[in-house]
Amino acid sequence: MIPHMPDHTPTNADLLARSLSAVWHPCSQMKRYESFPLVPVARGAGVWLYDYESKRYLDAVSSWWVNLFGHCNPRINTALRDQLETLEHVMLAGFTHGPVVELSERLRDLAPAGLGHCFYGSDGASATEIALKMSAHYWRNSGKAGKTQFISLENSYHGETLGALSVTDVALFRDAYGALIRQQATVPSPDWRNADAGESAEAYALRCAASLEQHLLQHHARLAAFIIEPLVQGAAGMAMYHPVYLRRARQLCDEYGVHLIADEIAVGMGRTGTLFACEQATASSHDKGMAGEGLGMTPDFLLLSKGITGGYLPLSVVMARDEIYQAFYADEAARGFLHSHSYTGNPLACRAALATLDIFAQDNVLAANRCKAAYLNRAAQPLREHHAVRNWRNTGMIWAFEVDSPHRDFAQRCFALALQNGLLLRPVGKTVYFMPPYVISHEEMDVLVGRTLHTINQLA
Ligand SMILES: *Cc1c(COP(=O)(O)O)cnc(C)c1O
Repeated sequence: MIPHMPDHTPTNADLLARSLSAVWHPCSQMKRYESFPLVPVARGAGVWLYDYESKRYLDAVSSWWVNLFGHCNPRINTALRDQLETLEHVMLAGFTHGPVVELSERLRDLAPAGLGHCFYGSDGASATEIALKMSAHYWRNSGKAGKTQFISLENSYHGETLGALSVTDVALFRDAYGALIRQQATVPSPDWRNADAGESAEAYALRCAASLEQHLLQHHARLAAFIIEPLVQGAAGMAMYHPVYLRRARQLCDEYGVHLIADEIAVGMGRTGTLFACEQATASSHDKGMAGEGLGMTPDFLLLSKGITGGYLPLSVVMARDEIYQAFYADEAARGFLHSHSYTGNPLACRAALATLDIFAQDNVLAANRCKAAYLNRAAQPLREHHAVRNWRNTGMIWAFEVDSPHRDFAQRCFALALQNGLLLRPVGKTVYFMPPYVISHEEMDVLVGRTLHTINQLA
């Protein structure tokens, strides 16, 4: 008999004990699990996760922002089964395959014009690493080897490997590794919560763009790129800002010869209401004749991960502008981009991404999401008007608000109470956010709002 393989169906308690004895969980102080137990998940269906005792939880955070069309989506499952019977993996250096070619072509057609080539990585942080290296290498290939520095927004998050941490401005993730990181400069975030009283989100974004210009003016000779989370800074607590900032950032980066890297790892794939957040970049309402027009902008690099596979498999993509690609195309090997990961362009992951894009097209998802967002905004009226709720905000399929609470450990308490109420919420500090799978129904949105209200009342 094998002692760690019980012949009965495992219980929550079995799984919990075995997990604590063998698994080192991410983003966790393991000792906390003594007072706030792990949730063992046996299966998933749609927006629901089920534990081993059939208690179910509404996944309001799409399992760390990755899930788009529900757990165990039948269409993605079918595509993956088919791929599994055909080709599970082949290396991408010296070889190619159908799913990676088709995915690259389709992304090129869907993304802002000019992003001609897709480079693949395994997760979001590797996409950030790739973009930073490609940007600096581009400048080196162009005779400007001195351009090796980067800037990001205050409270930015671009991943947690060492290179990505250098452009991540979250002290909790960074401080222990300060000695290992070449810390890069930040510029003010256009997060509208920081606007002066009476100042519009747009005016504040333009004021922050003026600070960006000052920084570029002084440092452009050493700067390779400005990396930014378009429209919503996720890990900062769903900080939202006016799209005029994106358009200004594009103009300024062009003016000062600095690349613009759009990290759409969290906000891409329809999350902000358009397939890519960059599409919403807009001119200032003061620029005559362009008022309010959603003109969009093409970044030099566009990073995708999280939702790209519908939340099924790790995959990331760095889309690069044609001019950048051309700067690497030469006879000498060393001018090429020699970066790789073992699973670069994995066929199963690419196939999941293709199935995800099929669902976007077949179900007219972006239009359907607009109706869902309008419904949730109405259904959430009692939450918006709650005396403890501040800064209610919404962009596409992301909602967030701050809760007035005396508890220093609000996030942990709220998470634990919500679980008791059958809801997976994962507050960032005192910010509660919803980032549900797009398949959420009206009834499920009512459940989401009702259980959140109940949880907040219990905490008050
Ligand atoms: C999640 C995230 C990353 C990192 O992705 P991982 O897959 O967790 O490495 C980078 N940038 C943004 C904006 C993210 O939300």
